[in-house]
Amino acid sequence: MSEHLIFELSSAGRKGFSLPELDVPEQPLDDILPAEVRRRRPPNLPEVSEPTVVRHYTRLSQLNHSIDTGFYPLGSCTMKYNPKIHEVAASLPGFRSIHPEQPESTVHGALQLMWELQELLKSITGMDSVSLQPAAGAHGELTGLLMIKAFHRASGRHPSTVIAPDSAHGTNPASATAAGYRLVSVPSDERGRVDVEALRRLVNEDTAALMLTNPNTLGLFEDRIQEMASIVHEAGGLLYYDGANLNAVMGVVRPGDMGFDVVHLNLHKTFTTPHGGGGPGSGPVAVTSLLEPYLPVPVVRRREQAFFLDYDRPRSIGKMRSFYGNFGMFVRAYTYIRSLGGEGLAQVSRDAVLNSNYVRTRLNDVYEEPYAGPTMHEFVLSGRRQAARGVHTRDIAKRLMDYGFHPPTVYFPLIVEEALMIEPTETESIDTLDAFVSAMREIAQEAESDPDLVRSAPHVTPVGRVDEARAARQPDLRWRPPGQDHDEAPGAATPGDAPEGV
Ligand SMILES: *Cc1c(COP(=O)(O)O)cnc(C)c1O
Repeated sequence: MSEHLIFELSSAGRKGFSLPELDVPEQPLDDILPAEVRRRRPPNLPEVSEPTVVRHYTRLSQLNHSIDTGFYPLGSCTMKYNPKIHEVAASLPGFRSIHPEQPESTVHGALQLMWELQELLKSITGMDSVSLQPAAGAHGELTGLLMIKAFHRASGRHPSTVIAPDSAHGTNPASATAAGYRLVSVPSDERGRVDVEALRRLVNEDTAALMLTNPNTLGLFEDRIQEMASIVHEAGGLLYYDGANLNAVMGVVRPGDMGFDVVHLNLHKTFTTPHGGGGPGSGPVAVTSLLEPYLPVPVVRRREQAFFLDYDRPRSIGKMRSFYGNFGMFVRAYTYIRSLGGEGLAQVSRDAVLNSNYVRTRLNDVYEEPYAGPTMHEFVLSGRRQAARGVHTRDIAKRLMDYGFHPPTVYFPLIVEEALMIEPTETESIDTLDAFVSAMREIAQEAESDPDLVRSAPHVTPVGRVDEARAARQPDLRWRPPGQDHDEAPGAATPGDAPEGV
């Protein structure tokens, strides 16, 4: 399937609207908008009928894989189905039509929803206070680390390092650096968990915090977590929990009970708010009472039956983003939590773990499993055996698209060669999982019998194999009929020159 630019579908005089005859006196345009602020030429807009517009954009939307069209086992990203009831709730006029500049007294219901969501996240994480402000997981990490920094400073200490495992998500070292810390990497042991003896040697009075995700990015539960917590706490450091993997443990164990001081959650992963092109993120942070004074302003609070925004917080790290966070995401996450209830959330985690282990144990005879399971909600295989025959993980990922599946995360975590990181999520049926397993097994077969077929994949997608470096550096998104040279002058058929004076 291919699709022309909408400008190429344009035909002079076609319209997608009709306006009634003018029934008021005509006003000279100059009286309304002086000539010097107006365009000298009309904008070059496509002229198309309504069905053309609808079909064009509907077809475009189908050129991309999405969770509504197919299985999306992208490890670490938790691409689970987004229930449509959330969209109904988020579309209620009282939520959809409010403006962040409205007086507080007119958005009491919205404040109540935010406060109640904070309370729910407190009980899910086992922490004392929550800020909904951060716009994504990485932003939550930065927020948490800035609070840790403010905490140390208030006690007259200036530790300069943050420790994270060598399996950490790339945002951990990035956030530590952005917060002004030097990153120290702690190695993993042969079981794929943090090497606790190495950690003991690395922790000292210069340690501001240890950042961990549990289960870790190999999908393995860090079973010596309390020991690690006391090593860090005894040296005066704090514990940061990267809660992006909460889908594995919510309702079962809580970061607060594991000894963490601050945690961020990814509402767009665990709590099903759309992401990956479907919506903005949301990365609330939850803290113990130790860090509560440093939460970003404002904090949503309740006084008797009234909800309000509290700006009177002298030790706050300040504001982390405009307004109060991605409110539409709060409505969706709130709806998710309330529609499942506590037992339902625990079932989500148990099913995510079950699905993951089901797929893992049906694939680990044909793909290498570098760190032995059982795993939690995701697992990592290695394409090393196939790479020895010249078929790399990248090729396997591309070939999966021909079978109608989104590829898993590849080449991450960095400690696994030819990594294939698979997260099925709990929202998939056994039929879907079986179909995925069959595809993965067939591709392993093809790697033996017809390696070129895999190496040149994908074959049935709208766009075939691209030069990835060039695609990222010189994106050229224009469609051309098959066979037409891709090297023609860029912009050759763009919609006329930009109007002057714009
Ligand atoms: C997704 C993820 C993050 C970052 O979250 P964003 O919302 O993408 O910024 C951090 N850590 C882990 C383990 C993740 O999976």
